[in-house]
Amino acid sequence: MSPTFDHVTLGQRVLFGSGRAADNLAAEVTRLGARRIMVIASPSEVPVAQEVTKHIDGTLFHDDVAPHVPIAKAESARAAAAEHSIDLLVCVGGGSTTGLAKAVALTTGLPIVAVPTTYAGSEATNVWGLTEAARKTTGVDDRVLPVTVIYDAHLTLSLPVELSVASGLNGMAHCIDSMWAPRTDPINRALAAEGIRALAEGLPAIKNDPQNLRGREQTLYGAYLSAVAFASAGSGLHHKICHVLGGAYDLPHAQTHATVLPYVLAFNAPAAPEAEHRIAGAFGTDTAVAGLDALRVALDAPRALKNYGLDEAWIAEAVELILPFVPDSNPRPVTATDLEALLRAAHAGETPVL
Ligand code: NAD
Repeated sequence: MSPTFDHVTLGQRVLFGSGRAADNLAAEVTRLGARRIMVIASPSEVPVAQEVTKHIDGTLFHDDVAPHVPIAKAESARAAAAEHSIDLLVCVGGGSTTGLAKAVALTTGLPIVAVPTTYAGSEATNVWGLTEAARKTTGVDDRVLPVTVIYDAHLTLSLPVELSVASGLNGMAHCIDSMWAPRTDPINRALAAEGIRALAEGLPAIKNDPQNLRGREQTLYGAYLSAVAFASAGSGLHHKICHVLGGAYDLPHAQTHATVLPYVLAFNAPAAPEAEHRIAGAFGTDTAVAGLDALRVALDAPRALKNYGLDEAWIAEAVELILPFVPDSNPRPVTATDLEALLRAAHAGETPVL
């Protein structure tokens, strides 16, 4: 069949280089002509942010960051930006920190330069998220897409192994879910496949030696590709499940993705031969499931949602919450019974059933 698709590539500058973040940021500030710069970083990320911003003047540090961007935190950051006539946002940190910068950009239109220190990938998407009264709302707006991303693997050396593994598997979930997401196309599938290859190479190297810079670089590169693929392909079944679980039951983001992924892959793979072939090829294994499973064993990956705060008694409600969001593009129809079986297995950490 001849390929027919509409593809959008988001416009963004990417500066990648270990040990180069401070110089690259100073050059970007000059290029953008910024004078009043708000640096967003959580308290534990501030030392890294100080190092990265050492060559620039006119910075206001804002460290009032919390997971899932509570609306009150967004409003206080927006007020600080207005009060200090900020003309550029620089975020240095994980997805929570990037998320706060996006919340400010959403209402102010201020440009963002993102310096990520995890593998969440928010820096490469135009997706924002805000939490109000325990409900997380997400949306898509090109104003929140950082104009520039500065990747420096040195900044991730301090990310503990467990968090590196969970965060990297969050990236892996972006790649695998892109294979059957609503706007999947040959371009985002190619990016996702290269992302799988890079993450499968980088993450075991980090597990063996957290100071392995080459492993950190490969993982950061894979995380970027994963996010570009996800931004283009949209949210598939895996992301819909994790979004509901994270929002309704306050489960930790990266660990939830890392735990649920093998169950969604095992469920969809038999009905998606092209995706199965591509994923297996990227892992270099006979099947996609075998590839992900071998990686998860090597990484001692998160295994059971019961360990991350999901109560078995909530599963029936979770099924009802997830069902309306199952994408029409999913390669296999999803019934309430299927979802319940998937969530029960993921809750207990049982071996996924094909
Ligand atoms: P996070 O940003 O909450 O970071 C996790 C922890 O790691 C924090 O305590 C942080 O301070 C610490 N940390 C970060 N970098 C570190 C480093 N180099 N060394 C030591 N500690 C470090 O978690 P996350 O997984 O990066 O991001 C999750 C959030 O991002 C969620 O809210 C999720 O919804 C969002 N997200 C959004 C998108 C999007 O496209 N909008 C994509 C992915 C994730």
